[in-house]
Amino acid sequence: MRIRRKKAVIVQTHQVTTVHLTRQPIYAWCERCSAKVLMLTPEEAAALAQCTARAIYRRVEAGELHCFETDYGALRVCVNSLGGPTPGSSPFSEYGQDSQS
Ligand SMILES: [Zn+2]
Repeated sequence: MRIRRKKAVIVQTHQVTTVHLTRQPIYAWCERCSAKVLMLTPEEAAALAQCTARAIYRRVEAGELHCFETDYGALRVCVNSLGGPTPGSSPFSEYGQDSQS
């Protein structure tokens, strides 16, 4: 009787994405997080989420992302909402600020 052996090769990867803001960071109150968090432009959010700005706009329209419009009509996206639907569970939550600061 022959013994058959299976070999499995598991490849795990880890990727770190760094987005450098070219402007002063904007921290604003996010109603859905109930916290003061870093707000990104759609382009910055797209770079961080590794998708297109168009995908960010779609997620905003679908209500998946927390956002607000500035006084001059520019969209800002809550960094906490990029990683998942639950505030605090986002891998990007380290960029947020709590309401104490
Ligand atoms: Zn939020």
